[in-house]
Amino acid sequence: MLDPRYFDHAASTPLDPRVLEEVFRAYRLFPGNAHAVHSAGREARNAVETAREQVARAIGAEDPLQIIFTSGATEANETLIRAHRGAISPFEHSAVRAAATGYEVLENEGYGLVARQDCDFLSVMSVHNETGAPWDVRSLPAKLRHADMTQSLGKEAVDVTGLDFASFSAHKLNGPKGVGAIFAAAGSVEPLLRGGDQEQGNRGGTLNVPAIVGFGVASEIAREEWPERANHAAVLREQFLSVIPAEFAVTVHGGPNPVPHILSLSFAGIEGESIVLGLDELGFAVSAGAACSSGSTEVSPSLRALGLPDEVARGTIRISFGLGNTAESTDELAKSLVSTVRRLRSLHT
Ligand code: PMP
Repeated sequence: MLDPRYFDHAASTPLDPRVLEEVFRAYRLFPGNAHAVHSAGREARNAVETAREQVARAIGAEDPLQIIFTSGATEANETLIRAHRGAISPFEHSAVRAAATGYEVLENEGYGLVARQDCDFLSVMSVHNETGAPWDVRSLPAKLRHADMTQSLGKEAVDVTGLDFASFSAHKLNGPKGVGAIFAAAGSVEPLLRGGDQEQGNRGGTLNVPAIVGFGVASEIAREEWPERANHAAVLREQFLSVIPAEFAVTVHGGPNPVPHILSLSFAGIEGESIVLGLDELGFAVSAGAACSSGSTEVSPSLRALGLPDEVARGTIRISFGLGNTAESTDELAKSLVSTVRRLRSLHT
């Protein structure tokens, strides 16, 4: 399950076996609808409330009722973005961009964001999923501030103090897919899904109890283990970079302080997608950084905003480190990347 050759943790993380056990347990023990009044319902409800406390603790929320469970960060972002009008950064995930009709886009100078006065609602992600660059929306003026913290939880210290809203997704911290949360300081949002009074009227729909239980346990583990994980990622990142020969003239993205678990690199003159496929043949999972989603040939708006020439952007790959990766598999990946890049470059000369 924790495959050492899987290096795409920024896209999705494998389930932690400890989480999987609790998810199975919840499937067995809690068949009830968490909103039913009988004892099976109450037991399911208690399990959900425990998870709400665990998520709240992991993100530094004062009150568990500030947590609203969703189907993931896409839904969390869409709920918040649709309910407001304001501005977003040019680096946001497509889950924010697609919902931000009528929003302004902040200007940027490299990774720096240019503040805008009189902003009613500002959405800036805490860690860039493509390059690992960090931002703190709290440093920018706005009446209400939202941070998409999908790439932070489980990887670094997370504290929502001072934020109005934040978004999270369990499958980025070795939890189940299809479950996430909104942090709302005021404890309420304009619901995107109506038709049920679940989640204190903030989100209609029967709760996915086992997934929520898994999210809670994954958050609890992440709260305790993130420093170890961050350190592990930093060590592997350095080790990986030390194997790449200087003559490759590789560009490392993410600005001066990228998070250690996301490593974005460009190899000018070759396609990132070709590198990804070459490494896949050798048994490694990494992702291409240029396309906003797989199958898309467009250069991502984020890499555009950074001013990268298309030929550099197209040669971008993202390697992300996490549970299961080892010093040996990192060394093998680096050597395989070197041989793949050499082979692809030889095809072009
Ligand atoms: N925001 C960011 C920054 C992400 O990286 C992702 C997932 N790639 C999402 C939102 C969407 O999350 P989910 O898969 O839970 O819908």
